[in-house]
Amino acid sequence: MPSDALIEVKKLQKNYGENEVLKQIDGVVKPGQVICVIGPSGSGKSTFLRCLNLLEKPTGGEILFEGHDTMSFSEAELTTMRERMGMVFQSFNLFPNLTVLENLKLAPMRVKHMAEDDAAKKALTLLKRVGLAEKADVYPSSLSGGQQQRVAIARALAMDPEVLLFDEPTSALDPEMVGEVLAVMKELAEDGMTMVVVTHEMGFAREVGDEVWFMADGYILEKNEPNALFNHPQNERAQDFISKII
Ligand code: ADP
Ligand code: MG
Repeated sequence: MPSDALIEVKKLQKNYGENEVLKQIDGVVKPGQVICVIGPSGSGKSTFLRCLNLLEKPTGGEILFEGHDTMSFSEAELTTMRERMGMVFQSFNLFPNLTVLENLKLAPMRVKHMAEDDAAKKALTLLKRVGLAEKADVYPSSLSGGQQQRVAIARALAMDPEVLLFDEPTSALDPEMVGEVLAVMKELAEDGMTMVVVTHEMGFAREVGDEVWFMADGYILEKNEPNALFNHPQNERAQDFISKII
């Protein structure tokens, strides 16, 4: 394997019954890289992310994390591994009965046994980073969708993840709120965070992505740096998809 891979996927396969959702997926994510995954609905993008962070058990193939074969991990090792990968969903999934600060403190305290004062300090630092320090004591329901998603990103960061996985983080947002979330993601990328981002935001993919992977029917049909992929897609399905969305 390339010695500098953070995640390496080899011939990854995932079936749901008869439905072959992922077929022979290969890919390498290096530290600090931003990989944007694009493709039509139903092509397996969410399933791919859920396999990457080991929420789903692959039917075949391998996922190596820092060179370790995750298929051979015990449940305890899988849990540790999942904690090192932050996930941000389309629907923000904040705990509605907890304040913003409590949302951020929860996992570091429960999982990492961080002292409450330290967790609070860390939470506030992260809220500042996403521009929401003044919202620490409110409940998620009083925030806009864009603000909730920025809190969700801060909450994922509270666990000091090795990599952040985003599944269409702006798809549920009103258009005027998309920019603020993408701006936070762009800053994270500039700070060196490793990210795999499933997105329909082609502007973001072009500007921030190191590579774009085009998925269709359970395959990654084309991988390239963004400008090459968007300007000169080689694969016919990619050409068709890109001509419709740009
Ligand atoms: P995308 O995110 O690209 O829209 P998904 O990964 O959500 O695609 O879905 C790909 C295919 O896998 C779809 O046919 C979907 O119905 C199927 N699928 C996804 N999750 C499950 C599941 N938990 N059980 C059964 N089928 C699933
Ligand atoms: Mg999806």
